[in-house]
Amino acid sequence: MERVTSKEECRQALSQARREHKTIALVPTMGALHEGHLSLVRAACKRADYTVVSIFVNPTQFGEGEDFGAYPRDIVHDLELLAAEGVDLLFTPTTDVMYGRDSQVTVDPGPLAMRWEGEVRPGHFNGVATVVAKLMNIVRPDVAFFGEKDFQQLRIVEQMSRDLDLCVNIVPCPIIRERDGVAMSSRNAYLSPEERFQALALCEALEVAAAALAWGERSADAIVALMAAEVAKRPLAELDYAALVDSVTLEPVQTVDMPVRAILAARVGTTRLIDNAALVPPVK
Ligand code: AMP
Repeated sequence: MERVTSKEECRQALSQARREHKTIALVPTMGALHEGHLSLVRAACKRADYTVVSIFVNPTQFGEGEDFGAYPRDIVHDLELLAAEGVDLLFTPTTDVMYGRDSQVTVDPGPLAMRWEGEVRPGHFNGVATVVAKLMNIVRPDVAFFGEKDFQQLRIVEQMSRDLDLCVNIVPCPIIRERDGVAMSSRNAYLSPEERFQALALCEALEVAAAALAWGERSADAIVALMAAEVAKRPLAELDYAALVDSVTLEPVQTVDMPVRAILAARVGTTRLIDNAALVPPVK
């Protein structure tokens, strides 16, 4: 696996693959890699002839008072993990390399970014959309892999690729969970043992939603109330939002009469966690 840190080196390394008409895949990450990230990497290596992984903790997607400084970084371990997966190129730019001194133009992610995470974290998706657009312009992949763990981000990237004619095929990858059901996340490292236990609140709320649907409940309000009650059972967990949304528009639904997405965010101690699941009403 080759590692490059400048855009020029990255383009250079890719030129040979392009000359050979190889299919190029991109997996953007912020590092502190876990099995969730590796599932994307494996899907990319399987699908493409040449796989590029980027590790960049993007400052512009962190708000003031968020955890940019504290965000876990472990490049040595990340290198070991990626080398074992057959990744071709690792791109690890610094902030200076990525943005230079006089970066001014950003991507407006549009209405999909207004609600949910975008409302709680103003500017977050502008940062995400901008850095993903930049990475796509540097790497010019045929295909890019994103986790359903960050469902709103995935939808925004899909929409951006289409609306800005980036010509990148976006492949959604399923959420990888710990054995107890907690969605893998680099931020789980912040949790104390008790908080880690109470972090079960999120996936348990999603299980309750699925169970209610299976019993015949179709009212989104009723299901969301059950989700909130489930989270409330854990004193260290504080719900930011829970909702059942249309999987394309991310607008709340009233009735679950077709597949929807259950989404939620909660603070466990000082750590903010998100999770989601597809909710599919049983056929009558
Ligand atoms: P991050 O490093 O948190 O920016 O994540 C990089 C990519 O990995 C994003 O597309 C995430 O959605 C994806 N990802 C993170 N955690 C998981 C997980 N538990 N399962 C699947 N994909 C994930």
